[in-house]
Amino acid sequence: MSVGGAALRASTAPTPIAAAPERVPWVRPIFEGIEGSLADIRVALTSGQASNDGPQVRELERRLARYLGSPECVAVSSGSAALTLAIHALGIPAGSKAVLPGFTFIATLNAVVQAGLTPVFCEVEPDTWTLDPAHLRELLAADPGIRLVVAVNVFGVPPDLAAIRQAVEGSAATLLLDNAHGVGTEQDGARWAREAAVQTFSFHATKVLPAGEGGAVIAADARLSAEMKRLRNHGIAGDPLASSSGYNAKMSELHASVALRSLAGLDDALARRREYAHRIRRVLVEECIDACVVQRIPDGVRSNFQNLGVLCRPETGHDVAAVQAALDAQGIDTRRYFHPPLHQLPAYRGGVALPVTDHVGATILCLPLYSRMEPAVLHRIETALRQIDRHRDRVARHT
Ligand SMILES: *Cc1c(COP(=O)(O)O)cnc(C)c1O
Repeated sequence: MSVGGAALRASTAPTPIAAAPERVPWVRPIFEGIEGSLADIRVALTSGQASNDGPQVRELERRLARYLGSPECVAVSSGSAALTLAIHALGIPAGSKAVLPGFTFIATLNAVVQAGLTPVFCEVEPDTWTLDPAHLRELLAADPGIRLVVAVNVFGVPPDLAAIRQAVEGSAATLLLDNAHGVGTEQDGARWAREAAVQTFSFHATKVLPAGEGGAVIAADARLSAEMKRLRNHGIAGDPLASSSGYNAKMSELHASVALRSLAGLDDALARRREYAHRIRRVLVEECIDACVVQRIPDGVRSNFQNLGVLCRPETGHDVAAVQAALDAQGIDTRRYFHPPLHQLPAYRGGVALPVTDHVGATILCLPLYSRMEPAVLHRIETALRQIDRHRDRVARHT
């Protein structure tokens, strides 16, 4: 009986097969110090103050200001809320125009439109994919109704703020930096770009400093910071009669607890991210993989590698669909981000021609990159990149 049972078990036992490797996602939230965060959240939940400018939010603001080298920092509920508060606090009048790049996340556009501003799309540079100062100069010269310029950090690479500031000076416009991608990016050793009147950050789960949801604003002018603190709390002023319309854009103590742990681990997280990004970029550049080109990182810039974007090269037989398919076949997820460029949305079609932005938008692809990656995962990505040509040739033979 027992012998027969054993034989039965043996004959029906599944043949062991190597487990199929999991797919490699293109982004993945990595939270540092989770046990500590949970303990801090417990404190917040039992302290009687889970929101409204609590001790964790204040501590986060102090530490972020120190980290960024700014005089002050205002924590808010998201990077989008940060943009909205900044535009409101700067007093940009509804009905005027705002310049922004066509190549950015839709949240940049949403903040502009919801403030009652008309978007004017600007070209990006062909190699850094950030706002093109020369085109900006043309737009400002042609239209005195432009009152706001929103420059955007793209994947960790800042726009050319010195040239952009020069273009903006002498116009009626104010410069805002959407630095949602830029926490920890350094330009000539500085993490705070003083060229912009205000700059905003996002602590969304997929950004380099994740809180789940969250954001921050920094301004050189203390009055602007005070105004944004008032606006994030329904517009309520110290003197109640001085209150005016505002928003609920406060950060909760729960989110601040998570953000504080992420900030404590940020230097290490960025060191790992940079190492992974350099490793993958080196394969593409040094092994002359002709399927795609990497983003140029200007002299003096130390990217935080928020994302690892490449431009695919249809001229070598590698359009976006082909590269995506080749990597997909190896279990590697990629994303067309940002796609489509915003000036191609139906509401804005037929406006100004932006050929460089069109090209970047048509060929951009983001490869997987996050703050912790196993050596085996990096190896899979490298191997898949080395085999892209083979995939193209196989497809060619079968068509
Ligand atoms: C993520 C992002 C935002 C919005 O931030 P949220 O925190 O998600 O609201 C704004 N601009 C850019 C460029 C972004 O990538």
